[in-house]
Amino acid sequence: MNSELGSPISGHSPSLKKAYFCLALVLLASGGSVLAFVNPPSRALETQNLRGLIREFQTHLGSYARVSVFIVKKNDRLASVRPSKKNSNAYFLEVDEGFLSTLAQEERRAMVAHELGHVWIFTHPPFLHSEPLANQKAALLVSQESLRKIYSRVWQLDGQSTPLPEFLRAKFGPAEPSVASTIPPPSGEPPATGLVFLGPDHN
Ligand SMILES: [Zn+2]
Repeated sequence: MNSELGSPISGHSPSLKKAYFCLALVLLASGGSVLAFVNPPSRALETQNLRGLIREFQTHLGSYARVSVFIVKKNDRLASVRPSKKNSNAYFLEVDEGFLSTLAQEERRAMVAHELGHVWIFTHPPFLHSEPLANQKAALLVSQESLRKIYSRVWQLDGQSTPLPEFLRAKFGPAEPSVASTIPPPSGEPPATGLVFLGPDHN
């Protein structure tokens, strides 16, 4: 097994020390305790499945970064990626096994795509990680709808401290703010703020 797994990050620049990135910053203990258990045989299959997704997406992205996946007993960030301390261009994707067991295949694809978005950021200056940028890259691989679905799950686990639209806005950033702020609103409607999603539900 990998001796680096679970060790803290060191020897990287300050930006790289922020190397743990995630779908959710905090998983409440109560949320984690109700998640289902994945037995060892299915864990091997799950790992194989995730490896397949990584290969598919890396090929699509034309990325040469080597990403190894580990299903771990507990990851407070649910899913996170970090660079290897020993090998440049190598990254570890660690996924909480309970969280993984709750995901449909579409959501697994979205989760992997999001984390590969972070790998992309790791390999492209100025290496500034953000959820919106990771999701921008992930949207090259999966639909926005898939990404929203998995964030809805994370939101449920996260205690729903903020309304879902606000939570999603923080993860995806403003939707086309330049468009929202430049198109004049129809008469009688309030002006767009630039921080609203443009879509069928937007009034
Ligand atoms: Zn993330």
